[in-house]
Amino acid sequence: MSVNSLILVVEDDPSVRNLISATLKANDYRYVIAENGESAVATAASHNPDIILLDLGLPDIDGVEVIKRVRGWSSVPIVVISARNEDDDKISALDAGADDYVTKPFSVAELLARLRVMQRRINSFSESEQSVFSNGKLKIDFAAGCAYLDGDELHLTPIEYKLLCLLAKNVGKVLTHTYIIQKVWGSNWTDVTSLRVFMANLRKKLGDGQGAQDYIQTHVGIGYRMNKVD
Ligand code: CA
Repeated sequence: MSVNSLILVVEDDPSVRNLISATLKANDYRYVIAENGESAVATAASHNPDIILLDLGLPDIDGVEVIKRVRGWSSVPIVVISARNEDDDKISALDAGADDYVTKPFSVAELLARLRVMQRRINSFSESEQSVFSNGKLKIDFAAGCAYLDGDELHLTPIEYKLLCLLAKNVGKVLTHTYIIQKVWGSNWTDVTSLRVFMANLRKKLGDGQGAQDYIQTHVGIGYRMNKVD
């Protein structure tokens, strides 16, 4: 899958752009480059990339605006590249429809790891439309409203089940606190502290944090993601 995937790289800083393109080239990805927001939107439309790597600070239109425009017609995975301490920007980008983020300065290994997560996300798009969701030892039967871990039914509260389904249907994608709260509670009344408590209980029931691979990954100050587990 990694061979021949086409990546659209949107970055106005030549040194970062060169690092990314050298990395992609060395790892058999194909890529196209856009140096500003307008050309990013145009290239996304003309080249139909498999993944977009998008710097948020662009000379013309803002990266978040690029996401909004591209999301008008495409669900292509978007990984945002942002500077350190720009959590608000990351959250805006994720809420606008980005899937993931890397923070500058990032390592080549980290960039490649993000791309692998996105490829697994692409591969699971079709699965997510099925009535039974399967990820490692976790199974969710949406029609029956039941979840199983290693064949045993999980005893989840209604809220925990809703949280689990939301994360599963967006497997591989980082969901912000605000997004999760709106989807699960339907309004803004529940605070992030309560969400954390529900998540901690859910993660305990999934056996997260007890070695092996975790199903749910915490992004401090940002949100949560369900990982695709082997
Ligand atoms: Ca920039």
